[in-house]
Amino acid sequence: MENFYAYDEEFRDSLATVDERGKRIWIYPKKPKGKYTHARILVTVLLLGLLFSGPFIKIGGQPLLLFNIFERKFVIFGVAFWPQDFYLFGLAMITLFVFIILFTVVFGRVWCGWACPQTIFMEMVFRRIEYWLEGDASQQRKLNEGPWTREKIVKKTVKHVIFLLISILIAHTLMAYLVGIDQVINIVTSSPFAHWGGFIATVFFTILFYWVFSSFREQACVAVCPYGRLQGVLLNKDSMAVSYDFVRGEPRGKLHKGEVDNNKGDCIDCKLCVHACPTGIDIRNGTQLECINCTACMDACDEVMTKIGKPTGLIRISSYNNIAEGKTAVFTTRVIAYIVVLTALVGVVTTLMLNRSDIDATVLRVPGQLYQKTEDGKIQNLFNVLFVNKTFEPAEVEIKIKGHPGAEIVFVGEEKIKLAANSTKEHIMFVKLPPEELTGAKTPIEFEIIKDGKVIDTPATNFLGPFSF
Ligand code: SF4
Ligand code: SF4
Repeated sequence: MENFYAYDEEFRDSLATVDERGKRIWIYPKKPKGKYTHARILVTVLLLGLLFSGPFIKIGGQPLLLFNIFERKFVIFGVAFWPQDFYLFGLAMITLFVFIILFTVVFGRVWCGWACPQTIFMEMVFRRIEYWLEGDASQQRKLNEGPWTREKIVKKTVKHVIFLLISILIAHTLMAYLVGIDQVINIVTSSPFAHWGGFIATVFFTILFYWVFSSFREQACVAVCPYGRLQGVLLNKDSMAVSYDFVRGEPRGKLHKGEVDNNKGDCIDCKLCVHACPTGIDIRNGTQLECINCTACMDACDEVMTKIGKPTGLIRISSYNNIAEGKTAVFTTRVIAYIVVLTALVGVVTTLMLNRSDIDATVLRVPGQLYQKTEDGKIQNLFNVLFVNKTFEPAEVEIKIKGHPGAEIVFVGEEKIKLAANSTKEHIMFVKLPPEELTGAKTPIEFEIIKDGKVIDTPATNFLGPFSF
């Protein structure tokens, strides 16, 4: 079996979509049909339903998801995240990254073929419109290579107008996830001059999506997507992926009428799997960077196998080791190591999320101020408290000192601090401690932030005093 792979390794030196002179080869994949295509249609309907309804879903009056990078406002499942929570974001991103690695090592590129927005829109929306208007692969090729007749002009115009309209819809949906649906409605219903930034961003995304889906297409997966480029280091011989069963299929050969040749494998070299591939590769050469695991070749080959009376699954989701040696080893040392790291990260992120307070307070000594001795013989420090109300409700809080019976707080301003919804506020206060409660030049002190009678945060800092008293 090793000879088979060594013999065919040359294909790795070039891209299926670029010719020897570096010119793009336009791919005309045959329209897929079969049980995997049906399953993908169902998954597509579900995911597109979620994607387009997402901006309209609100939890407690807040969007389900909002990634407003312009105003640094982030909402996930109705919970607001502030720049102060970025450590959580960072950890959550690392956890997601490890999850993606683990998922890919075990299941290959299932994400790419079945859930990635690029593939879903390209293969299940834009390509479907093309099949509907211009016919299957051979008709599309004929149309493109033929002269500009009236029929061709009409078909191309209608297609590109529909492509542009869908791109507009996708761009507005993306904007809704960035700035919120209310803001998008505002942008759409006002003059472009009233929202220059939003208008330009929407036009930019529209042009980008139109260009990607009408022209750039599979190159996004093959040449740009960083996840795609990582496959070489993520996949191993135990990873599940769309694979050709070379043990069963080789030696391949044409099937002639009435021929009974038991020396041949099950692959009749019809190349329908190649013709169905949206990235233009031949999966019989083995796992390749360009394969997005869309399963179109599986449907194509299953149809052939059914026609010639052979079992389906000559191309199936399997691992190299499973095909070559019949071994299935999911829990390899590498997978176990990833699971351990992932479990630890999920534990840390969950604990931090559960302990995350809705109102944060940071107490800092006012710069340039050391300490003062007051008339009543106490030592006094000046502090600045920065409150962040991460909720969408106004709140009223109090601040007290923990564990110092002789301590006293003198507020500059109100004693009960009113915080507007989703806002920050600074509050200045003097803290006095009797000398006997100081432990040195720097005495650690802890505050209690109290809301509705409950301690919601305990910021700590140092209280400065003289070296000796
Ligand atoms: S080889 Fe098969 S699964 Fe991979 S991209 Fe081509 S058609 Fe899709
Ligand atoms: S579709 Fe199946 S039988 Fe036809 S070339 Fe591909 S692997 Fe061989």
